[in-house]
Amino acid sequence: LPELPEVECIVRDLKRNVTGRTITGLKFLFYQMLQGAKAEEFSRQTRGKVIEDVERKGKYILFSLSSNQIMEIHLRMTGRLFFCSAPVNPDKYTGAIFYLDRNAELHFQDIRKFGTFKLYGTRDLSNSKPFLLGPDPLCEAFVLEFFLEILHNSPKKTIKAFLLDQRKIAGLGNIYTDEALFRAGVHPGRRVNSLNLQEKKRIFYTVCSILQEGIFFKGTSFSDYRDLWGGRGEFQERLRVYRRGKEPCPNCGTAIERKILAGRGTYFCPCCQPFFS
Ligand SMILES: [Zn+2]
Repeated sequence: LPELPEVECIVRDLKRNVTGRTITGLKFLFYQMLQGAKAEEFSRQTRGKVIEDVERKGKYILFSLSSNQIMEIHLRMTGRLFFCSAPVNPDKYTGAIFYLDRNAELHFQDIRKFGTFKLYGTRDLSNSKPFLLGPDPLCEAFVLEFFLEILHNSPKKTIKAFLLDQRKIAGLGNIYTDEALFRAGVHPGRRVNSLNLQEKKRIFYTVCSILQEGIFFKGTSFSDYRDLWGGRGEFQERLRVYRRGKEPCPNCGTAIERKILAGRGTYFCPCCQPFFS
């Protein structure tokens, strides 16, 4: 499941490789990503448009087109984007091919077909989902005081549910949340109003640092995530608790536990992250 670091890596590579290019055609091989929108209409509206910029909002990828339109792609569970500088044959998971100038192609592949495409005018931004998200932890406005304030407004939530809520903070998913809470030494099931200031500060700094580290190591590739050229990330080798149930904690040797919290399989060390502190 791509989270903020994986999407950020893809967007940085897209920026370098597709910005300034013209979409000369768009072909769909399956249609689930359109959620009912018409394929011919989608192709017609993007054809001949220049990709002026590529940005990330939370886990959304936003292409600014020369028609003052935004093309929004969300990779969801297993979506991938591949850049090819020369034509390549699609495989059975290829759902869409963007033909770009100078013979380049951008392929969208999706094994589980949960990924989504949308197209809207820049005037409609205020109603579109990426613009209703909470702040991005990588943006300058995401400072400690702000984090403390949004925590204060959600006293009853567990810290895990809070960090996963995209309307509070955009971009965190299960992997980076579990890893950040482990490094902060905070049990994921603690309620926000039970946390002391030191714990809140530790969570803030570990959230920021774990995302930067994830980007530095090019993301986490367990099974599906690949970069724009099909390469794997390396961050899975640096995970300390995620998917390490029953293995010894790297700090204290206690067996790592797995519990369902906020509806998600959650990993933590019962000794380093005590429920009562
Ligand atoms: Zn431990």
